[in-house]
Amino acid sequence: MTLLNNAIEAIQIGLEDFKSTDPRRASSALRNIFAGTLLLFKEKLSRLSPDDNSILIQQTIIPSLDDAGVLFFKGKGHKTVDVAQIKERFKNLGINTVKWNIFDEVNNLRNNVEHFYTEHEHTVVNEIVSKLFKIIRDFCVEQLHEEPAKLFGVETWNIFLETDEIYESEKDLSNKSLAEVDWKFDTVREAIFHIRCTSCHSDLIHVLSDNEYEPGKALTLLCKKCLSEFDIEEVLEDCIIEELAAECHIAAMDGGEDPYAECPECSKDTYIYEEMCCVNCGYQQPDIRCTVCHTPLDLEESYEGHLCSYHRYSMEKNQ
Ligand SMILES: [Zn+2]
Ligand SMILES: [Zn+2]
Ligand SMILES: [Zn+2]
Repeated sequence: MTLLNNAIEAIQIGLEDFKSTDPRRASSALRNIFAGTLLLFKEKLSRLSPDDNSILIQQTIIPSLDDAGVLFFKGKGHKTVDVAQIKERFKNLGINTVKWNIFDEVNNLRNNVEHFYTEHEHTVVNEIVSKLFKIIRDFCVEQLHEEPAKLFGVETWNIFLETDEIYESEKDLSNKSLAEVDWKFDTVREAIFHIRCTSCHSDLIHVLSDNEYEPGKALTLLCKKCLSEFDIEEVLEDCIIEELAAECHIAAMDGGEDPYAECPECSKDTYIYEEMCCVNCGYQQPDIRCTVCHTPLDLEESYEGHLCSYHRYSMEKNQ
């Protein structure tokens, strides 16, 4: 029971820190809640280990023979599994409860928190707590078969519930604000939900100015957490890259074409082939062919002029 007890204690202490009005305790809150979450994962591995020996939480497991020549496994050294290994073991053991993309997202956010929580009183701590709450809740119910409110105590559990409710309702308003804009391009409409504040990384963003997106035209966004304002141009490229990451990955594996490229006009990675233009500056590739061999020119060639790269090269060499 010690692993589980330690997990509960870490999460309880974390939430106490979180409720404190002293912003300096924010990072300690997150450190504790994260540590507690990992301990819950280890509790599962421990429960799955044979003979109560918790061998599955050991970083290195080696096969060995006992005196009677029977094979058994033992742990080597004192190190226990890290996040990457927990992921791997869960995968091998068919445990699919944890949404690792969300876990990784908040883990990255957490690493950033220390840089800005001193500058801004409001941080993304709420979001992290809310997202971890769901991971913890689902894991307790589905994998540990424990009732979370009972496990953590009503007081602690209520902090989780409240935080989640506040974050979700703020997130709802932000989603609505973003959905009201005519984004003009399907890719932008979908990518925009990856938006984060340029100063505090919060995802509670509202649209301030007019509700129509036009490449190259200002569109002001407001962060509801730290109240800083920024223009769509500062964040659009990141949103696009994140939105199309999976597609790029598939393209790379299948040897296909990337869904986007660096725009020759504005130099951002926002030229989307499917939209047939750069969604940041509006540049459109002219439909032209090489004047010598008549092959259709690609994005860069057509920006440079009227020759394919082969004929450009041979022309430059002859001059
Ligand atoms: Zn912000
Ligand atoms: Zn462009
Ligand atoms: Zn040519």
